[in-house]
Amino acid sequence: MHQIDFTCETPKMLLKSSIAQNSQGKGVLPPDRKGNGMRAFERLLQYVQVHTSSTEVREGTPSTERQRDFAKLLEQEMTGMGFTGVSVDNHAYVYGTLPATPGLESVPAIALIAHLDTIPDEDYPGFGVKPQLIRNYQGGAVALGDSGRVLDPEMFPDLAGCIGHTLMTTDGTTVLGADDKAGIAEILTACEDLVRARIPHGRIEVCFTPDEEIGHGAALLSLERLNAAFGYTVDGGDVSELNSETFHAAGADVRFHGVNVHPGEAKGKMRNASLLAMEFHAMLPSGDQPALTEGYEGFYHLTSMRGDVESAELHYIIRDHDSAVFQARLGIMEHAAEVLNERHGEGTVMLEFRSQYRNMNEILSQVPEVLARAEKAVIAAGLNPKHVPVRGGTDGSQLSFRGLPCPNLGTGGAGFHGPYEHITAENMELAVSVLKNLVSLRDDTGNGNCDTILTRSLTSREI
Ligand SMILES: [Zn+2]
Repeated sequence: MHQIDFTCETPKMLLKSSIAQNSQGKGVLPPDRKGNGMRAFERLLQYVQVHTSSTEVREGTPSTERQRDFAKLLEQEMTGMGFTGVSVDNHAYVYGTLPATPGLESVPAIALIAHLDTIPDEDYPGFGVKPQLIRNYQGGAVALGDSGRVLDPEMFPDLAGCIGHTLMTTDGTTVLGADDKAGIAEILTACEDLVRARIPHGRIEVCFTPDEEIGHGAALLSLERLNAAFGYTVDGGDVSELNSETFHAAGADVRFHGVNVHPGEAKGKMRNASLLAMEFHAMLPSGDQPALTEGYEGFYHLTSMRGDVESAELHYIIRDHDSAVFQARLGIMEHAAEVLNERHGEGTVMLEFRSQYRNMNEILSQVPEVLARAEKAVIAAGLNPKHVPVRGGTDGSQLSFRGLPCPNLGTGGAGFHGPYEHITAENMELAVSVLKNLVSLRDDTGNGNCDTILTRSLTSREI
């Protein structure tokens, strides 16, 4: 078991003092001991103290006002860093522009995007976060506070690559919030480094979005305000991983209508809606569920059910990377509903699909330069890029289809969406390097980013 260096109880004060300094018009963040500005890890340590969970139980964006509070803090921080046009809109989207360095004004702008919210507290608490810091982690299991939970390398093999790092964990009672506050911290640190080191770059548009965890992060993002040719979400895990493929995704609501009569006199009359629901579910391929699939394997996921004799409901999400297989999955559900209606009478089963998102690779494959650029940035950071299909969606899926081609980059965090979330200072620095490489890379002509990207991305908007 590891010795915990310290548990952070008061960084909220740190955040307040850093904002206070900014708002006194000093124009820069408080320098660290090396005079290089705050590092991403230090930013994260402050951000995780701010409660920003979204919620499914309220309509409107942001789903929680606390996300707007965090957005306002970031607005102040960005204004003090040299961003222009910094604003928080009515829906708590934070926008800011880092103007191009002289001579690169005509280079197409790149967007860097991360999300403000953490998962709903109903799923796992995101308030009262007390991060544990372990300097010079030497491998092995780490007790998560007094929670009885242990962060174990058997369960999280990535820890083997963190030896010698400064490791940040939870105390076992909350999420950490590195998803996606690490992304925010890394984007701002990269931008600050660019400014301080006077590294040439084109215009950079930064946007932090609310409600990503409940699937609404990209919907209200203003592409007009963003005014970028292409972008990257910084919301993944391993820094060497690039995500350009997501699932095709739909939801399905299946309603069963029964006939209730006294069970003693039910013969030939009763139609038990709960049993119909079980009959329906049994007609789906039983191995195609999240617990039994990985990689490119798709699934049906029964997310909730309710039932009595009179009526029953099943709610599913359906996922697959392959468009044809995805359509076939929907077809299997339609067929099951048809069979039950034939068997038990028309109207017994009502099936409705809700389309959710599509595999962003359909768009990104048309603009290979966008992903190639990310690959080069990862290589330039000394890493070996790995293409990993996302078993889910990203804000980038929707943004890509709206006209902003947008793969996803790693933050260095792991164990997201629960008490085992962790990240290291060193991996965050690698992510910062990748971002700096990404925005300062030049094409072969020395003209900054390829103009062809802009042209092609405009074409993709028509899709
Ligand atoms: Zn995330």
